[in-house]
Amino acid sequence: MSPAPNAILHEIFGYEQFRGPQAAIVDHVIAGGDALVLMPTGGGKSLCYQIPAIARQRAGHGVTIVVSPLIALMHDQVGALHEAGVEAAFLNSTLSMEDASSVEKRMLRGEVTLVYAAPERVTTPRFLSQLQAMHDNGRLSLFAIDEAHCVSQWGHDFRPEYRALTALHERFPGVPRMALTATADDITRADILERLQLGDARQFISSFDRPNIRYTIVEKKDATAQLLRFIEREHEGEAGIVYCQTRKRVEEIAATLSQQGIRALPYHAGLDQDVRQANQDRFLREEGIVMAATIAFGMGIDKPDVRFVAHVDMPKNIEGYYQETGRGGRDGLPADAWMAYGLQDVVNQRRMIDESPAGDEFKQVMRGKLDALLALAEATDCRRVRLLAYFGEASKPCGNCDNCLNPPAVWDGTDAARKLLSTIYRVQQQSGISFGAGHIMDILRGKPTEKVKQFDHERLSTFGIGAGFSEAQLRGVLRQLIAIGALSVDSEAFNTLRLTEGSRAVLKGELSVRLRESVSLPPERSRRRAD
Ligand code: ADP
Ligand code: ZN
Repeated sequence: MSPAPNAILHEIFGYEQFRGPQAAIVDHVIAGGDALVLMPTGGGKSLCYQIPAIARQRAGHGVTIVVSPLIALMHDQVGALHEAGVEAAFLNSTLSMEDASSVEKRMLRGEVTLVYAAPERVTTPRFLSQLQAMHDNGRLSLFAIDEAHCVSQWGHDFRPEYRALTALHERFPGVPRMALTATADDITRADILERLQLGDARQFISSFDRPNIRYTIVEKKDATAQLLRFIEREHEGEAGIVYCQTRKRVEEIAATLSQQGIRALPYHAGLDQDVRQANQDRFLREEGIVMAATIAFGMGIDKPDVRFVAHVDMPKNIEGYYQETGRGGRDGLPADAWMAYGLQDVVNQRRMIDESPAGDEFKQVMRGKLDALLALAEATDCRRVRLLAYFGEASKPCGNCDNCLNPPAVWDGTDAARKLLSTIYRVQQQSGISFGAGHIMDILRGKPTEKVKQFDHERLSTFGIGAGFSEAQLRGVLRQLIAIGALSVDSEAFNTLRLTEGSRAVLKGELSVRLRESVSLPPERSRRRAD
């Protein structure tokens, strides 16, 4: 009989009770079952394998191998386990040969409860033969594969070395395995099950909701000014992360925030290792630091009191967005997820997909994922409902997102959309080439620019038919059309606009287009400007 998991929870970890599905997961794995665990960041995944590891070790099953791609996380966890009196060790590139070999010896003798190892190490012939020896002596208890989405190219952090982990099941079919992750949409989840051959594993899927996070997505005008205003109004002196698309942008944002008296630091892969480390340490240790960063920052960083996560550029897809925003409010107190997004973001992300060396199928999936994020950004209803639906979870309007708190004024953009699409059509017919958004809007609004004259576009029947719409309105229509796939941006040809299959339904009036009323700048700023 293995000791009761409850006793381990109290005596070793000092916690009162299991959270959510932890108890069921722990029971299932202690009994030798395979499991897929989907739990949001901060949900408590570690205990789901640590407690079975301890229980199974005590019952004489031997050592648990934890596969983890994050060296920093391994160190933290092993440190914490030591403090709790659990025998744990890690094997990664930071260990000297002697230290690694001493860990291996203890592992082979079954003297440690958990060994954390990087995936590329686990799948070496040498390590596999050590596992074989342990297996033959009845000392191989359990495999826990953390960050399991890394096995999937559809996930946001594909690591090819995860693919080789199938060797674990093939060589040791009798050893229970669990895969854990904090983000996986349907396609990624199916891929994890298939790639890791976990088709028969029981699935434990927690709610992905983070009720304390308030989601806000604003239309981008001057992202830096908007960000400043957001921080000054809502989060003065508080810790936050500002995600940017490029290193240059990180530097600019960090500099601008600093000039405004906000304690901001940059973080991206182009900085020296020591600078990066120093900035990260300050962010973790000091209070109220704002980190301007690329997505290189954040994995495995557990700072409970991050009060906001801002995106001044749009991420690639909803998983990325969810993962990054999930770093806010891990202490359960209110936190903001704030994003500014505009047409240029759409164009940039499309271009990155188009220009990537990946195959067509991959690009197609990536475009679909981007479209889902665009639809979230353009949504006029509850953001949380949309977000959770993306992860397969049904929910009711949350009352804690921008759209719930301030339902946006909505206008019917169907007419504007038809005018826009027919202008693109006519221009294409007349000139035989496509044009970008600016030129198309000039024609629609009847502006006789040099370029309009040059191409004789004043003579088009659609010239000036959209004079009643503001440029902001038309931009909104454009974004929405792109978000629903009724228009595409050809990034290989100067970001020109192209009609798609989906354009037809809008042109024919079969599809209506609902748009959020463009939010004007808040009064404070206009006043300041007028001064
Ligand atoms: P994840 O890996 O899912 O992001 P962790 O395993 O790091 O989450 O757990 C997040 C935090 O919650 C940790 O500080 C952990 O100690 C704490 N925690 C986990 N389970 C419990 C529990 N049953 N009771 C109290 N605290 C818990
Ligand atoms: Zn809501």
